Amino acid sequence: MEITKMNKNEMVCYGTDGSKLVGDVEKVVFPKTCLDVQKIINSSNNIVPRGSGSNLVGACIPNNSVVVDMKKMNKVTDFESAGTSGKVFVEAGVTIKELNEKLKAVGFEFPIFSDECSTLGGMVAMNSIGYMGGYGRIKDWIEEIEFVNGRGDILNISKSDLSDVCGMEGITGIITKIKLRIVPVVEKSISLFQTQDINEIWPIIKRLKLDEGIVMLRFYSPFVSGLLGFPEKYHIIIGFNSDRGRIKGQECKNILEKIKKNYYYLHSKNYYDSEDAEFFFDRIKEFVDFLDRLQIPYFGDLHLGIIYPFFRDDREKVEVVKMINRLNGKPGKYGIGMIRKDRLDVLQKKIIQRVKLRHDPFVKLNKGKVVDFFGVEEGKVEGKNKGDESTDNLIQDRLEESNQEDSKSSSVEDIETETEENKLLFETPEEKMEGFIKKVEGKESEVNGLDKEIEKFAGQVAMGIVEKGDVGKVVMDDNLDRKPVEISKSDKDWINKIMLNKVDEDDKGEDKNED
Ligand SMILES: Cc1cc2nc3c(=O)[nH]c(=O)nc-3n(C[C@H](O)[C@H](O)[C@H](O)COP(=O)(O)OP(=O)(O)OC[C@H]3O[C@@H](n4cnc5c(N)ncnc54)[C@H](O)[C@@H]3O)c2cc1C
Repeated sequence: MEITKMNKNEMVCYGTDGSKLVGDVEKVVFPKTCLDVQKIINSSNNIVPRGSGSNLVGACIPNNSVVVDMKKMNKVTDFESAGTSGKVFVEAGVTIKELNEKLKAVGFEFPIFSDECSTLGGMVAMNSIGYMGGYGRIKDWIEEIEFVNGRGDILNISKSDLSDVCGMEGITGIITKIKLRIVPVVEKSISLFQTQDINEIWPIIKRLKLDEGIVMLRFYSPFVSGLLGFPEKYHIIIGFNSDRGRIKGQECKNILEKIKKNYYYLHSKNYYDSEDAEFFFDRIKEFVDFLDRLQIPYFGDLHLGIIYPFFRDDREKVEVVKMINRLNGKPGKYGIGMIRKDRLDVLQKKIIQRVKLRHDPFVKLNKGKVVDFFGVEEGKVEGKNKGDESTDNLIQDRLEESNQEDSKSSSVEDIETETEENKLLFETPEEKMEGFIKKVEGKESEVNGLDKEIEKFAGQVAMGIVEKGDVGKVVMDDNLDRKPVEISKSDKDWINKIMLNKVDEDDKGEDKNED
């Protein structure tokens, strides 16, 4: 393992990330093996794992921490292929660009393209989404993870336990190796749909979402369309993993390159800040109407239901975040990090705390990120070592500590529901729901309050926050499963009309088949 002396400028780089917050670095280490990582975890109390620092939420800002730069763990160690399917083993410091360059040489690709400098470790930690939303999140592509948790245990995490690591933003341990599914490279093609009337967008999207051959449904406001060189109208860019689209070859590649650089086009007009609001489909329209009224530029991924508004000024952002909350939007892509801890509700926080404490009871990793542990953050575990006390007791102490801290800062409403929520963490969603229903049946007088609780809980289950078999783990970034859908002939005809730009006036806006 290398511990390199840094000059002042290099230290400044390690103190910041895409959020532009700045913290202090104690030292930077460059592990080369899983055992190096284990050594670091066993010998330090304040550790920040780091890929390329491209996250936008302060997820790897140090606070006098040992920064673990994963870039020297950069090997693609194995590759298996059988016909049209393949698997690849990558170390956590390999970037998505490097991986795809290597895979291209053997006719394969990994389809979740994030920012090209992002490392696979960072992408797994953030549960990244590619710009082609139809491929889902990286979690859907992981077979196995090699991981050193905050206790210093080397673990092989299989599919059923991915939520302990994937999307946890490096607060439970350090990912060292990942086994990923890959696909053969297929020539992509695209079609464009443009309109001046926003109301034409929604019925078209509803239909296109049914087509499994479509891997990208990008939506652009007129202003952002203009920045990309299109007419200033609403645009849907429809991407296919085949030659079904009208635009192919180099022209298609040029447009896809532009799409990858969306952020830079907006930055060039001083729109440096953005949000990533994920909604149920029916809410998107209301949100987009609101953005149009405020003349706020945006683009969206309509496969995943995420809209990205961009801001030049904090006042606009405050108003937009209020609207996102009102419409029950949740952070869709950027993660939580240091700057969005207020976006988690009490139940989500409790679930994350539980997983965190299972893997990192001494709170060594990414202190102050995602969820707070007040007593521990102030250094109460200083000097304690693994084995000083039974871990289970420790976990219980920490939970009680954090419950006490939470209740100090909670509103009266929070305090009243606290005990019930903790109890609920041990029940499956079905048990929880049954419990609520029994209460409702038994106590007419409490029906109103309980109705609200049922509604809230059902909403959380529906949003994928809690799933059967996942209680006690975090699935905050999960998406609802997309089940294969049969497409009717009339839907296919309609989609083909759009592809060939043959939608005539009579067809527009006509919602023939209710989905
Ligand atoms: C221009 C631009 C475009 C972007 N486009 C996308 C996009 O399309 N999709 C998307 O999802 N995101 C996107 N992002 C956000 C960012 O690229 C992702 O969050 C990415 O996953 C971060 O990877 P990284 O290697 O830079 O991780 P870092 O920023 O270094 O770290 C992110 C988090 O992961 C943790 N971490 C890093 N490595 C490890 C490891 N080995 N083990 C455990 N924890 C680790 C860190 O502690 C931190 O909490 C974009 C950002 C920019 C600036």
